[in-house]
Order: sequence, then C-alpha cells, then structure tokens
Amino acid sequence: MPEPPVYPHLLAPITIGGLRLRNRVLMGSMHTGLEEAAGGHARLAAFYAERARGGVGLIVTGGLSPNDQGVHWDGMRSFDSEQEAQRHRVIPAAVHAEGGAIVLQLLHCGRYAHHARGVAPSALRSPVSPATPRAMTEDDIEQTLGDYARAARLACLAGYDGVELMASEGYLIHQFLTLRANRREDRWGGDAAGRMRFAVECIARVRAAMGPGPLLVFRLSVLDLVEDGSTWEEIAALARAAEAAGASLINAGIGWHESRVPTIAALVPRAAFATVARRLRGVVALPLATSNRINDPAVAEALLARGDADLVSMARPLLADAAFVTKAAQGRADEINTCIACNQACIDESFQGRLTSCMVNPRACRETEWPSQAARRSRRVAVVGAGPAGLASAVTAAEQGHRVTLYEASDRIGGQFRLAQRIPGKEEFAQTLRYFERRLQRLGVELRLGRSASAPELARAHDHVVLATGVRPRPHGWGAAPSGRVLGYVEAIEQPQRVGRRVAIVGAGGIGFDVAELLTDPAHGADPGQGAGSEASGDVVRSRFLATWGIELDGQTRGGLVAPRPETPPREVWLLQRKPEPPGRGLGKTTGWIRRAVLARRGVRLLSGVSYEGVDEAGLHLMVQGVRRCLEVDTVVFCGGQEPVSDLEGPLRALGCPVTTVGGARAATELDAVRAIREGTEAALELA
Ligand code: NAP
Ligand code: SF4
Repeated sequence: MPEPPVYPHLLAPITIGGLRLRNRVLMGSMHTGLEEAAGGHARLAAFYAERARGGVGLIVTGGLSPNDQGVHWDGMRSFDSEQEAQRHRVIPAAVHAEGGAIVLQLLHCGRYAHHARGVAPSALRSPVSPATPRAMTEDDIEQTLGDYARAARLACLAGYDGVELMASEGYLIHQFLTLRANRREDRWGGDAAGRMRFAVECIARVRAAMGPGPLLVFRLSVLDLVEDGSTWEEIAALARAAEAAGASLINAGIGWHESRVPTIAALVPRAAFATVARRLRGVVALPLATSNRINDPAVAEALLARGDADLVSMARPLLADAAFVTKAAQGRADEINTCIACNQACIDESFQGRLTSCMVNPRACRETEWPSQAARRSRRVAVVGAGPAGLASAVTAAEQGHRVTLYEASDRIGGQFRLAQRIPGKEEFAQTLRYFERRLQRLGVELRLGRSASAPELARAHDHVVLATGVRPRPHGWGAAPSGRVLGYVEAIEQPQRVGRRVAIVGAGGIGFDVAELLTDPAHGADPGQGAGSEASGDVVRSRFLATWGIELDGQTRGGLVAPRPETPPREVWLLQRKPEPPGRGLGKTTGWIRRAVLARRGVRLLSGVSYEGVDEAGLHLMVQGVRRCLEVDTVVFCGGQEPVSDLEGPLRALGCPVTTVGGARAATELDAVRAIREGTEAALELA
C-alpha cells in the first residue's frame, strides 16, 4: 500500500502577530449574499462554522463596507453600527468553537458602486460600472478613514480576530493607488507617495483603533493587469509602508474587476499567478499569502514548499468542499470535491445580487436549510442515468442512508460532463467525475453500467426512482445532406479530426461556443486532464496562457501587461444563430467576455439573424438579413440544443412507482449543470 500523501507545509501551524493558526489555509473573501438574506447572521455562522470544522486555518469574511457609500448595491448591508456588530457576534463565536480563526473584510467599492451615492478618488467611471462616481472631497476622505477605523473597532467588539483591508481587485483603496483611477492633484494623489497616502493612513488608523493584538490582513494587488496600473517599484514601496503602518499579513491579490485578462476563470492554469507574491520576500518581513486558481492540496503544498508564500488563500475551493483541509490531512485528497472554476453558481450569481452557492456542491450557503442528517427510513432507491444530475442524486441519497442502485446505459459515468472536459480550458470538469466516482465507491452505491433498466424491473426492486436520463441532441431537420458534411456536437467534440478546415457551427449557445473554442484551439485534441490542471504539461500550458493574454510576471511593465502573442487557429469558423441579438448574451457574466475575446482573437465570424435553408455539396445555404448566401464550408456542426429523454416516466407512473424526474430529463431548455446537480441533490434530500 502506498503511503497516503501528506502536506507538511500546508498543514504546519503558523503564528501571526499573537495569533496561532493551525495551518496555512486561508479562506479568501467571498460575498455570499447571506449577508443580506433573512436570518443571514445565523446562516453565515453555520456556513463559516462548517468550513472551520473542515479544518480551515483562517477565514476572511465576505467584504462589508465601513459606510453606506461603499456598498455595491442599494440594499446591501454595511458594517457601521454597534447593533450590526452585536448581530455579528454569532459568526466569530461559531468559528472559534470549531477551532478556527476569522477576520472581517472591510471593502469599500468606490467607483464600482451600482447606486447614485458612489464616490472615488476622481470622477472617473470604470468600464464595468453604470455610473460616474463623485470625486471625494478632503472631508469625505477624512470621514471614510474614520469609518474604516470605527468598523475595525466594531469588528473586534463582535469577536473577530481582526480585519482584512481590501486594497486589491480595483476597489476604493486600490483606486487611490493608481493613475488609472486617481487623477487628484492634492496630497491624496499626484506622485506615487501621494496616491499611497490613503492606503497607508487607512492601515495606521485601523491599527490604532484595534490596538496591537488583532490581525490586520492587507489585501494588496501584486499585479494589476490594467493599463495605468502600478509598477513593481510602487507595489514594493506600498508593501514596505503597509508593514511600517501596522499590517500583520500581506494577502496578494491579482488584477482588477475591469481587467481584460482572465484571473480566476477555468482557463487560467492552476496557480498561474502564485509566484508573484514571492517577489515581496526580502522587501518585507511580513508573512505572505498567495491566491488565484489554487484548488488542490498538492498544488498548494508545492508552492509553499518552494517558498512562493507562507499561506495559501482559497475561496471557491472551500465553497465546493468545506472539508477540503480535513480530507487532505487524512490522506483522502481524492475525495475532495474540487472547485472547477466555472463561476456559474458563485461569482456569476453574486454579481447579480443573488445568493451564492456552488455548482458541484449546492449545499454551500444552504447549510441551515439542508442540514446533514440521515433519513428517517432507509429506502431502496434507483437512480437512472449517471450524468451530473444522477450522480448528485445517487451520492446524496446514499449519504442519507438509502440503498442506492445507479443505472447507466453507456459504459461510463459522466453524461454531458464527459464532453465538457474535452473543451480546452474545461479540463477541470474531469475532477468532478473523479470525485463522484470515488464517492460512489466509498458509499457503496451499486453501479450498473451498460444497463438500460426497464420500468417493470425498476418498479419491482425499488421504493423510489430518480429519473436522470438527461437529454439527446435535437435533430437538425434539414433532410439529407452529403455524407459526413453535417455532424452533431457530440461527434465534433469526441472526434474533432472528422471536422474539416472550414466550418459552420449552427447554434451559438453554450455548446456552440464550446465547439468553436475546441475547433479553433491551436492545440485542440489534447486528452482530458492534459490541459490547465495537468502537472505534465503545466509549465507549457501556463507559458502559453501568459503569452496569449499578454501577461508578464517579472515586474518589467506598469500593470504587468505586454502585447498578446497572436494565435494561429487550425480552422476557419463561422458561429451562427437565428436570433438577431449578438451571440453569447446568455453566457456567464464573469466568463462570457473571455469566451467572446478568445473567439475574436481567433477570427471566428459571428452571424446573427440567420435562417437556414439546407446543406449540399456547395456548403451551408442561408439567409442573412434578407440576403441569400452560401457559406462554402467543409463541415456543418449542429449545436441546436437538446430534447429531454424521459421515456421511462410514463410507464413507471403507470406501474404506481414513485418517480422524481430531474435535470435535462425534466426540462431540456435553460438546462445547465447548476440546475442539474441541484435538482438531483434536492430529489435525494426529499426522500428523507
Ligand atoms: P442552448 O443554449 O439552448 O443553445 C442552442 C441554440 O441553438 C439556441 O440558442 C438556438 O438559438 C439554436 N437552435 C435551437 N433550435 C434550433 C434549430 N432547430 N435549428 C437551428 N438552431 C437552433 O443549448 P446548448 O448550447 O446545446 O447548451 C445546452 C445547455 O448547456 C444550455 O443551457 C447551456 O447554457 C449549457 N451549457 C453551458 C455552457 C457554459 O459554458 N456555461 C457550456 C455548454 C453548455 P437560435 O434559435 O437563436 O439560433
Ligand atoms: Fe467553484 Fe464553480 Fe463551485 Fe464556484 S460554482 S465554487 S467556480 S465549482
């Protein structure tokens, strides 16, 4: 038996200020939406306590503004009164009871405000904001610094172990630091020393308000990835000044929300930016935390062992699996439910003012609604279909104590995720299948592959059937086409070598974009697992990512930007849709722009308002805005959506068998993996 892996650097305690942390895992700040929800304080306490129980060393809460001007949206809570501090007391108390530590993040969003009260160093609207902020007066600045100090004192009163000051990702303190957002000519702007003044003053006043004991984490941007961002010399000078003013720990941030370079999306290779924090070694003596796309204990261990940082900040990975640290410590890393960096249930939701959760762990932020408890009565449950919905249902039902049989007609589990993991930049989807496979084994779920169960058989042997039979691609309906000229998306993704050099993709939904990215990827065809997350090709993938997005990590340029390296796509592609609007409207809020940028860089031509007339030897015949055209393509790939597969539902009901139909089998439109996994999980919980 091989020894289970251990993570000696990751799991080593560290003392910062007077506070001993049990390991090097820092849970990074994420606004969950529970902050504004009814009963939010108790729900936040349950949410963070579960992460502390799972072994996290230090938790940083979601950002809270020290005053009302600094909130993102109207209706968001700020942290600015004794009453609010009292309501917070349950949160640090719950975390401390589980042996963890927790600091409250103070975040004033400045010009990122989505309301009319927004203020900023200068009246400059950000490209991602709806309104131009008002330039702060001297009085506003004094008032705001005072608000930070008061909020820090209140955080200590509430029982937090200190605060984190958010000075990265383009928020107010960061705005003061850079020419990009600060054009002031008074002592709060001008040269680098003037632009730094607000940040340093803020640290000093917060330290004075809290006293010497509590932690003061300073979230400092070490790479701005915007034009007119900071130089390395300015970043180093700020780190030194932060140390002198009373910071306890530097938590390295990457980029602004308005950066046109991806920093946390799935196509960012794991730990792509982790080395940048290391450049502060020798500049300051403070401990350093590094972050961004670190979702695996082995990756975290390696970068700590190399000396890139003293702590590793992970936010989304701890949404995906609250027990990440415990599983790593027990040598059960293969049971970690890995964050696949999709953003679909977390940041995309948060940016729209909705409650955050997690695609692969829908229980995240529903800890009080879905408590972990066994079912009152163990039932015999059949789950039919081992795609994401069926896998979630089978695992959850088995966790509840039911006896579960999972039927899958094909010879492997995974369903649509098997296709997704073949798309460049979505290799992490393979991790979800590894997780489910391992959980099925551990929970003793009986897996019957290659079996199309009949309704009588299912009804006879089970008390309840969860039907998760998924979807089938919608047929194109154009009648006969020359052999091999029209392919479905399944064939195009599984066998891209069958696709010619000139391609029309019909349907510009999520799958149409996926297929366009795959077919134009210069390195397409790599095996699943050989991309962003793979160790074997990690350096190559990282260098390619940095070069194609124009990123330099050595501090040579202001903001860390250089000219992107052009890509040579292997195919000429048209991506078509019937709707008149620009393609890609329905893509994720935080990832849609990246996907459009990738296709634009590769010269993919997008056509909207198209009607299709058929395919022959000449190509694809269509009408665009009343004009007849023929796209002379070798291959047409049909990505026109799906139909549900629920053939068993009627016969099962006729036999009187209780059935719950979930995911694509229930409704194929508006389907995504978030809904599929959530519905599968809910169906299992309702059996209790
Ligand atoms: P989809 O989003 O429904 O897109 C299919 C598109 O095909 C439609 O938008 C429609 O646009 C077009 N279409 C429908 N019927 C057609 C017909 N008979 N002839 C020609 N065109 C037709 O479906 P999908 O792309 O297959 O994706 C399935 C689900 O998975 C979606 O919910 C999607 O969000 C999700 N998904 C998400 C991602 C992601 O990265 N977030 C990736 C893959 C899949 P027009 O009628 O305007 O042409
Ligand atoms: Fe990670 Fe996606 Fe879950 Fe967000 S929704 S935590 S990105 S797996």
